[in-house]
Amino acid sequence: MRALVIVDVQPDFCPGGSLATERGDHVARLIGGFVDSDVAQATNYAAVVATQDWHIDPGSHFSDEPDFVDSWPRHCVAHTEGAELHPALRDVDFDALFKKGQYEAAYSGFEGTFEGESLAHWLRSSGITAIDVAGIATDFCVRATVLDGLKENFEVRVLTGMCSAVDPQRGDAALAEMEAAGAQLI
Ligand SMILES: [Zn+2]
Repeated sequence: MRALVIVDVQPDFCPGGSLATERGDHVARLIGGFVDSDVAQATNYAAVVATQDWHIDPGSHFSDEPDFVDSWPRHCVAHTEGAELHPALRDVDFDALFKKGQYEAAYSGFEGTFEGESLAHWLRSSGITAIDVAGIATDFCVRATVLDGLKENFEVRVLTGMCSAVDPQRGDAALAEMEAAGAQLI
């Protein structure tokens, strides 16, 4: 069985947000439409889940002088508008929302928890062996989620048209890295 895993589609990662990616809103709308599409119906996802960057006090992950590699402007502060799901996804009936990064940087959705349960455990206990991944940002949290998914022995596909990068060139390099690690790019 296959699940759809939507990574960090949050207003702070979209134009107007504190850590915007250029295609963020576009990708959010595409994903919002995809969930109800014939393609998604045909794929017959056993579950649709999302991850959220959800910072309370993540230490050096935030900086007033960010390097945009290891440190970043403040973003996705828990319970703020910028940390909510993007409005284009608010009608999606997610089976679970995995929050990550409360007290430290957490790029991979597999570091997130929902009601105390990790993503890998939740997926396995739902009988899921394969995941399709889309979201933000291709070169950071999508990349980390895909690589961790492979390490956790899930079959992983990346829905490349529905991913948005911080840096498009770095995003393309990240996709190549994911493919080399065993993910299927579709
Ligand atoms: Zn973060």
